[in-house]
Amino acid sequence: RLVTPDVASRAEDSVERALRPKSLGDYVGQRRVREQLDIFIAAARQRGESLDHVLLFGPPGLGKTTLAHIVAHEMGVQLRQTSGPVLERPGDLAAMLTNLERNDVLFIDEIHRLSPVVEEILYPALEDFQIDILIGEGPAARSVKIDLQPFTLVGATTRAGMLTNPLRDRFGIVSRLEFYSADELAHIVRRSAGLLGADATEDGAAEIARRSRGTPRIANRLLRRVRDYADVRAGGRIDTATAQAALAMLEVDPEGLDLMDRKLLEAIVHKFDGGPVGVDSLAAAIGEERDTIEDVIEPYLIQHGYLQRTPRGRMATRRCWQHLGLKAPAGGSG
Ligand code: ADP
Repeated sequence: RLVTPDVASRAEDSVERALRPKSLGDYVGQRRVREQLDIFIAAARQRGESLDHVLLFGPPGLGKTTLAHIVAHEMGVQLRQTSGPVLERPGDLAAMLTNLERNDVLFIDEIHRLSPVVEEILYPALEDFQIDILIGEGPAARSVKIDLQPFTLVGATTRAGMLTNPLRDRFGIVSRLEFYSADELAHIVRRSAGLLGADATEDGAAEIARRSRGTPRIANRLLRRVRDYADVRAGGRIDTATAQAALAMLEVDPEGLDLMDRKLLEAIVHKFDGGPVGVDSLAAAIGEERDTIEDVIEPYLIQHGYLQRTPRGRMATRRCWQHLGLKAPAGGSG
């Protein structure tokens, strides 16, 4: 799948980094989040303080990591990056925290996957810039307080609901990232094409943008694959026809749904009569992790009206049946 990081090669990762906007001014879309951060960062800078802790949530590829880097850049400080699953022991986090310099940004991706013992360390660190560590064992063990430099935690998660309440309460700034509009994505594709030296017409860029599931990471990936196609088959020029041919080859359909999307919709319709079906049965039917369905595949399908989440499970909407070229059953939902 296009959004999962393990599919990307190292070379792709470095291209992705190169395409990352560096300042708030270059960050396209998410107007509300941008405006808020702009003000909060300016205020923190005026006072010479660290920015309040920031929680960013939303589906993968929408720009959470990018925004964390931008916050550090705009604050004029360093960014240290880690992720929930990587921090296995409390000592791992303590080491990172004690190495932070004044007002630095600590970025923790997948923060909902912190283990409870590691999360414990974080509470006093966020609140009072202090950590308590236990030194020694048995009766001789004692707890030592260590002062930290003031810092900003930027946490990222796909769903804010997966955070524990005490952790969520310690973020002063909580922002939800939204899917991007086709216009915003077209802007991103044109900018990326410029940076990659690719020859994309306005219409060609718009075609890629329209089919990118509202997600900048997918837009950039598709642009690179379409460029490969254009280089080999179309003299390097990405116009509408070339983009359409390349996207068809990549099995991205005209509505921008990819193989996994269609597999999910087809399973609901063909194996479960349109639903309702529980997400676990669905996961088993298509051989995907439940989390991948909930974090990556479903949000876009729900927002665009292909799928409905009901208390009894997922249901295909009229639009879903139509998309698969089928007639929706009478009295069906949507
Ligand atoms: P996330 O951390 O939410 O999974 P990333 O921050 O890694 O997403 O974004 C993925 C890619 O999409 C980045 O490499 C960047 O090039 C691009 N991108 C994300 N948001 C924007 C934006 N607002 N403007 C331009 N490009 C963006």
